[in-house]
Amino acid sequence: MLSQGVLVLNKNWMAVHVCSVRRAISLVCQDMARVVASDYQIHDFDSWRMLSQHIEIHGNQYIHTPKFRILVPEVILLTGFNRMPPRAVKFNRRNIYMRDHYTCQYCGVRPDKESLTIDHVVPRSRGGRSTWENVVLACQSCNSKKGSHLHEEVGMHLAHTPKRPHWMSTLRNTLKGPDRPIWQKFVDVAYWNVALEEE
Ligand SMILES: [Zn+2]
Repeated sequence: MLSQGVLVLNKNWMAVHVCSVRRAISLVCQDMARVVASDYQIHDFDSWRMLSQHIEIHGNQYIHTPKFRILVPEVILLTGFNRMPPRAVKFNRRNIYMRDHYTCQYCGVRPDKESLTIDHVVPRSRGGRSTWENVVLACQSCNSKKGSHLHEEVGMHLAHTPKRPHWMSTLRNTLKGPDRPIWQKFVDVAYWNVALEEE
């Protein structure tokens, strides 16, 4: 439960992160963040701890310590001007599949997840490394056609130049999972703002 997600808002109430419950509570304890309650009231650690003793919300989760219990926050608001740097998107299989939308980057087919492979654009046999810029999803047929060649050598084309995904795209994917109505309001706003900043 301590690793469950908490949405992090910056000073302007824009979603910038999802962090663990442990990290969220530690930020609130250090006075670097406040808890945003479901009624959008904000609480520092003491007021949140008080609230956690006295209210009984059905279905809510608590962390119990020997002396008190504390409600698991869903959203926190950073208090400082120093913005939390966007976390780097982890280089892993799941995020590669998400970045490439489960689609073969050579021919555009979208087969079963099991039929997709991770292709090294510059093959490993030629010194290609496992980096965001050098791996793409490929269907089995494109993968075997390409073999240990460069795609140009066998007349294949890449739909997009592979690059590191923006952290916001993985944040949005994270948020598709659990049903968190309170998150959605902040994330939609953040999504549009970030899209504009990137233009
Ligand atoms: Zn293909």
